[in-house]
Amino acid sequence: MIELPEAVTIARQLNETIKGKRIVEGNTGESPHKFVFYKPSREKLARLLLKKSIGEVTSLGRSIHIGLEPNEVLVIDEFGGKLLYHDPGAQLPKKYHLLLKFEDNSFFTVAIQGWGFISTLTEWKQSKWVILRSNAISPFGAEFTSKRFIDLVEGYEDKEKDSIKTFFTNGRSVAGIGNSYLQDILFRAKVSPKRKVADITAKEKKVLYGAVKDTIEKAIRQNGRASERDIFDKPGNYSQIMDRYAVDKPCPNCGTAIQKISYLGGSCYICPQCQR
Ligand SMILES: [Zn+2]
Repeated sequence: MIELPEAVTIARQLNETIKGKRIVEGNTGESPHKFVFYKPSREKLARLLLKKSIGEVTSLGRSIHIGLEPNEVLVIDEFGGKLLYHDPGAQLPKKYHLLLKFEDNSFFTVAIQGWGFISTLTEWKQSKWVILRSNAISPFGAEFTSKRFIDLVEGYEDKEKDSIKTFFTNGRSVAGIGNSYLQDILFRAKVSPKRKVADITAKEKKVLYGAVKDTIEKAIRQNGRASERDIFDKPGNYSQIMDRYAVDKPCPNCGTAIQKISYLGGSCYICPQCQR
């Protein structure tokens, strides 16, 4: 799944590459995938793409917003897969769930892996999931201060019930962090994913804030994770500390073997000695 650093990288590259191009053909592919959710329907969307020009591309959390001038925005959200730019004459990927062909014969494809949402801004804004997340702040921006972060942790409504993993990954407080970057953030902060939000100490809140900032800023500088691809099909340069390759290897801090645990729909990688 794409997380915030990959979304920032993709949006920047799309601005540099396809902004201003006019769409001469658009479709949603020939291999429908039941976990690609389109709003409006595939047919409506294909019609809507015609004769639009690509406007500003931005990212919000883990979603990509592509301006379709004059009056629409295409949103690709909560997805895994590849958003690729292709030079004129390149071969189409075997499977894709959205294709934009431009006047100069270059094109752009979206191929979803796992699941994903492809919608217009109006429809996207009305989805329940987005409404729940609408107050979240981006960890990559001036508004993400230590005070603001501490207020979010302290003001979190289910803090007795929910763990710090849920706090981050449900996207209601901090936007764009998923299970992957969370592993490195919690390792850097020496906090277990299972800790209840209410049990995070004042000192740990400060350390967590720093760990979020360091991890996300470093990953953005490095164009996202090495396991994900940019629009030119190149991997990012951010190597995760805590992922499946770390299992049974010594913790970089203390030498204890890293463990894999299954927790809340996704694997967590922890140092049982450092992370409490
Ligand atoms: Zn350790």
